[in-house]
Amino acid sequence: MNEYDSDKMADVMRAYDGMEQTDKPEEADVILFNTCSIREKAEEKVFSDLGRVRPLKLSNPDLLIGVGGCVASQEGATILKRAPYVDVVFGPQTLHRLPELIRARLDTGRAQMDISFPEIEKFDHLPTPQTRSGSAFVSIMEGCSKYCTFCVVPYTRGEEVSRPLADVMRDVNVLVEQGVQEVTLIGQNVNAYCGDTDDGDTVDFAYLLQAIAALPGIVRIRYTTSHPRDMSQRLIEVYATTPKLVSHLHLPVQSGSDRVLAAMKRGHTVLEYKSIIRRVRAARPDISITSDFIVGFPGETEQDFAATMQLIDDVGFDVSFSYLYSPRPGTPAAEMRDDTPLEVKSARLKRLQERITEQEAAVAESMLGSVQRVLVEGLSKKDVLELAGRADNNRVVNFAGSPGMIGRFAQVKITQIVRHTLRGELVGHHE
Ligand code: SAM
Repeated sequence: MNEYDSDKMADVMRAYDGMEQTDKPEEADVILFNTCSIREKAEEKVFSDLGRVRPLKLSNPDLLIGVGGCVASQEGATILKRAPYVDVVFGPQTLHRLPELIRARLDTGRAQMDISFPEIEKFDHLPTPQTRSGSAFVSIMEGCSKYCTFCVVPYTRGEEVSRPLADVMRDVNVLVEQGVQEVTLIGQNVNAYCGDTDDGDTVDFAYLLQAIAALPGIVRIRYTTSHPRDMSQRLIEVYATTPKLVSHLHLPVQSGSDRVLAAMKRGHTVLEYKSIIRRVRAARPDISITSDFIVGFPGETEQDFAATMQLIDDVGFDVSFSYLYSPRPGTPAAEMRDDTPLEVKSARLKRLQERITEQEAAVAESMLGSVQRVLVEGLSKKDVLELAGRADNNRVVNFAGSPGMIGRFAQVKITQIVRHTLRGELVGHHE
């Protein structure tokens, strides 16, 4: 989501003043920070980053510095107080207003701030999507109305708002015309999608997936992130009927203890989560399941943690994300009693990550010798003579090939596992 938002900031600036991106901060006329406040560490980073660019302002007094994203939403005027050399502060829902904010800053000489939530207006004011690769993000909804007790998202991005069906389809069609073959539908809870149609009806996420799959130019569809509570039977059935939907589901569970899930206000039990996974696997037997885990939620006992480890054993997850609980100001969990020492929490996180790493290795092992459909995304980070792409189950695969294949599908046989990376050889092209 943040990558998508950063791309949109670049699009908006390009459309406004023909600005181009540069990798050299000392060449920039405008420096924008897109920030994340999901955990404290991410939030603190912005102030140290701002401190690093401050000297550039001394050598170039015309340089404008902006802070956007969720830290801007959360901290607002505090940013201007702590870093008075910042010129504009904008939230995730007002990034389309950047040109106005910059103009007002130049006209008045005063710092400008807009961190409001003007519903879905943003999307009507964003330039036409553009991409040069075979894969693109399409934002279908914004915000979150679940109010999990640990999470800051409803306060920084606002409540769930879905884009109308016709708007999403228009964006996808524009991308297909540019040669995009894979779309990743994004939002905080994409499976809560409820989009208005032109005739006054609404459609759900299952409908949207099928509508996009019906477009001949689309080869693969991904989505992220989803919430277990919105994993409807209709959506699960799409896995049985729609091969264009990839065999990968990222479904955050956070904990394997019913007591902790209730305290987190997740709205489902461990059994319900396992029932979803069982039904998804019945519809799509080879599906890879990945998840998010929070370790050390206030009051998490050794028994609660053991239940999470049990769930991990029962489900068998591929590459997943796990974090130590980070108290977020303004969220209910930040007020909860938390007696567990940090060393205990860190030791639990380590155990959990080791177990997931073993499961990841087993998945990689099972892919050895198989032929995977890989969408080539670019050059390999480690070896520019190699290409990097993603298999259907989201695993990165490196293989030797020509840069002309970037943005196209290839059939790649998996021949080697080097640490966490899969390597393979090209066995054919895919149309
Ligand atoms: N839709 C997702 C869900 O089902 O909860 C939320 C995605 S959230 C933006 C990304 C992940 O960040 C969460 O799944 C959670 O694991 C982690 N996260 C959120 N708040 C956190 C906190 N206060 N401390 C640690 N991790 C947190």
